Amino acid sequence: MEKVNIPNFKLNNGRDIPALGFGTWLGLNDEAIFDTTDLPKLLDTLSYAIDIGYRHIDTAHHYRVEPDVGEAINKKIKEGVVKREELYVTTKVWHHFHRAEDVEVSVRASLRRLNLDYVDLVLMHWPMSITEEGVDEKIDYLETWRGFENVLEKGLTKAIGVSNFNVEQLKRLIANSKVVPASNQIEVNLNFGQKELVDFCQANKIVVVAYSPFGTMVPSRSTPDSPEPKLDNPTMVAIAEKHGKSVIQVTLRYLYQRGIISIPKTLSKSRALENASIFDFVLDKDDVKTIGEFDIGYRTVRPVFWQDYANYPFDKIDEKMEIPSELLKWKNGANLDIE
Ligand code: NDP
Repeated sequence: MEKVNIPNFKLNNGRDIPALGFGTWLGLNDEAIFDTTDLPKLLDTLSYAIDIGYRHIDTAHHYRVEPDVGEAINKKIKEGVVKREELYVTTKVWHHFHRAEDVEVSVRASLRRLNLDYVDLVLMHWPMSITEEGVDEKIDYLETWRGFENVLEKGLTKAIGVSNFNVEQLKRLIANSKVVPASNQIEVNLNFGQKELVDFCQANKIVVVAYSPFGTMVPSRSTPDSPEPKLDNPTMVAIAEKHGKSVIQVTLRYLYQRGIISIPKTLSKSRALENASIFDFVLDKDDVKTIGEFDIGYRTVRPVFWQDYANYPFDKIDEKMEIPSELLKWKNGANLDIE
């Protein structure tokens, strides 16, 4: 079996975090329904990914797969493929749980579902606080962060961080907290370089983790009017051919050379291998400059249905949309336990 060797980045708590991870959000289907048809494939690929050397797994309460992801992880530990301390498991607190005391309830429930004693990183999934009914609770994320500091102190997690925070929110958080977030998980890809936010995070020793690292580049997301580069973009293909790599690998390598961790999700073993085989080549200055020109500030993940909620972190656009019910009351209820 081929193996991959994924290097680490250093977090501000002195601990290592693997520079590439495995994403586990199956997403909503075309009818905005969360459907688990692909879950067996995701788990099979995750198990394979651990076999070949992935050590960093990104999940969340909201993804509704924690019990299954936890089972796959524990199976690999039992088989002796990996030790718990060699794995880096991230989960997230959903925005139904933003009262300081609810953070511990949510994290303990994640640990129970994952069947783990601790996680390596817990993130505040979004800065807004919203009930199952869609009511804006307007809870200050500083209050929520007190709950995060508490779970860190109690040893339920080795590190705490945020996701989808903008520069102003991070500045306010840092100025008013004991613990600086270890990480900010945000959208970064070739069309959405997030230079200002990434620079701010890196200057403040907050590791950036890129979600949706492929943006609209991949067939599942590209539309006739979505921006270049697509997988067959001649400029990207030329750079890829020069290095004997794929356009996907050049994309992930570019983010890595910016000091950013990517957490691509795939249902395919060969793609899992491809995505992690990026540590044996180097993009040169010209490549980096050329690839940087695709950054047109185009956001792939734009939840306009949240844009009138307090602490919505992105720029607002002139569009209205109801919150998909699957993001509010989940199929099994937004229960802590998911059967
Ligand atoms: P990705 O950029 O990882 O794209 C996933 C898509 O890319 C899938 O359609 C997948 O297809 C395809 N793909 C993966 N590898 C390849 C490859 N080598 N060649 C061609 N196509 C490929 O987007 P996600 O939005 O899934 O983001 C990744 C992870 O980030 C999520 O799983 C989740 O863990 C996290 N996330 C966090 C968010 C947050 O708010 N904090 C928001 C969104 C995501 P296939 O599966 O068929 O291989």
